[in-house]
Amino acid sequence: MAKATSTAKSALASLAILVALPALAEEAAHRQLGPHVHGQGTLDIAIEGNKIEMELIAPGMDIVGFEHVASTDDQKAAVEKAKAKLADVLNVFKLPDAAKCKTETANVENRKETHQPGEKDDDDDKPGEPQHSEFHATYTITCGAPDSVTGMETAYFTDFAGGQLLNVNVTTTKGQTQAQMTRAKPTLDLTGVM
Ligand SMILES: [Zn+2]
Repeated sequence: MAKATSTAKSALASLAILVALPALAEEAAHRQLGPHVHGQGTLDIAIEGNKIEMELIAPGMDIVGFEHVASTDDQKAAVEKAKAKLADVLNVFKLPDAAKCKTETANVENRKETHQPGEKDDDDDKPGEPQHSEFHATYTITCGAPDSVTGMETAYFTDFAGGQLLNVNVTTTKGQTQAQMTRAKPTLDLTGVM
């Protein structure tokens, strides 16, 4: 009986995270419609059990200092270097060693800020408006000792000269919390969120 209850509970928890993740992605997409604010990125973190899923969206200006399509060799190299740095997620977003976390997947792309085809916002695109581009990264991390994920320290602001602020959304089976990491306070307290 007790076993059945616990199985049901964990099935419910899985269901909750399955529902929460697409909602999170949708919310992020909505926030990013229209010009983003240079200096400000968003980091969404979803934690369930030993698994951490993260999504970073950051203006190209913050990461490489420009948003037009890289045309010179130097610009192309800067984009590739930035993508490699961002792919090394546990060096950009450091978790406690005791948590024994490792990267399962890391995908980084540099994309034009455009509306999805067919969305009603298409009409808002005016010819000649300044183009924006963003870096978009998604990560899956697993941790051997998730209870030790009590905080995060980021090298984002030292790695990327244009970044000033990251708006952070943390989703767990307990609910959602919001926080900010900044150049002055590049840390995130995660005690009690699990
Ligand atoms: Zn921009």
